[in-house]
Amino acid sequence: MNSTAAEPAEQGLGSTGAAEGSNRCGYVAIVGRPNVGKSTLLNRLLGQKLAITSHKPQTTRHTILGVSTLAGGQILYVDTPGLHQRGSNALNRYLNRAARSILTDVDLVLLVVEALQFSDEDALALAEIAKAGTPAMVAVNKTDRIADKTRLLPYLQSLSERHPFVSMVPVSALKGDQVERLETAVLAALPQGDHLFPDDQLTDRSERFLAAELLREQLMQRYGQELPYRTTVEIESFTLEQAGGTDHPEAPRARIQALIWVERESQKAIIIGHRGEALKAAASQARLEMQKLFGRRVHLEVWVKVKDSWSSDEAALASLGYGEY
Ligand code: GDP
Ligand code: MG
Repeated sequence: MNSTAAEPAEQGLGSTGAAEGSNRCGYVAIVGRPNVGKSTLLNRLLGQKLAITSHKPQTTRHTILGVSTLAGGQILYVDTPGLHQRGSNALNRYLNRAARSILTDVDLVLLVVEALQFSDEDALALAEIAKAGTPAMVAVNKTDRIADKTRLLPYLQSLSERHPFVSMVPVSALKGDQVERLETAVLAALPQGDHLFPDDQLTDRSERFLAAELLREQLMQRYGQELPYRTTVEIESFTLEQAGGTDHPEAPRARIQALIWVERESQKAIIIGHRGEALKAAASQARLEMQKLFGRRVHLEVWVKVKDSWSSDEAALASLGYGEY
């Protein structure tokens, strides 16, 4: 936490955001149980699709920093893998460690819950927040599903009894309802300080990393239970070349060669599909998403390879970019 003693606590009732002339900057961890809409909310707050989402729990596997530069300051959002209890394999241990250590490093924790729901997993996330002692705000998401909004009042009351949140904001990440209000409350809760990133920077992640994520998103979204969530993507090469064409003369084209790692031959067959149609569709959609996010033309080649049970092998994890924690 970077809050200083000299700073007035102004995130209480009636706060209308950063005072005129003041500039705020700080890190905000977006946490909550899997599938509550953390990544969707981050994308909404950034106005761009940076974090990948799907209806599958544990889609988010890496922490990702999203930079939001506003008139009143800069908010540095950290999207985390869920704090979840299950699984004792290497990948799960890594995910839990990563999410926990972030809670103590940030200026504010934004807990995301689903409107009218509070499960054991939500309680687990809240317990971790309380243990870290970092100021926390709660975003009550998916309010678009609640027709009668007065039902939110007793729910908010019960949340306030669980933890001294600095603020509670009902939102719909999907529709964008009340997201600006949330943003104002988040900014007001951050310490004063200069911007830490250039105003036009969106993330600390490279295009190479984002390319792998966007391809993985297609796999998560397109294949159901047939694929284990540990299916992973590796970018074998990423090069920029001057495109001969005239459609995007301003930016060099990215030439990307990607590998999809699976654990069994049967999974490889599913991903590739009949005559390669499934893989072609996934790769083509991923390519379009890359072009949108990068603002450049993308040439994408994808292969699928079988690698035996890498998810329980720490060395294999490290070779795929996990294990910084
Ligand atoms: P995460 O695991 O917490 O990052 O959750 P995601 O952002 O990946 O979202 C999980 C699922 O919930 C996806 O299918 C989203 O489309 C959906 N979702 C997220 N936010 C909302 C919302 O505000 N309303 C509704 N109805 N669905 C949402
Ligand atoms: Mg996510």
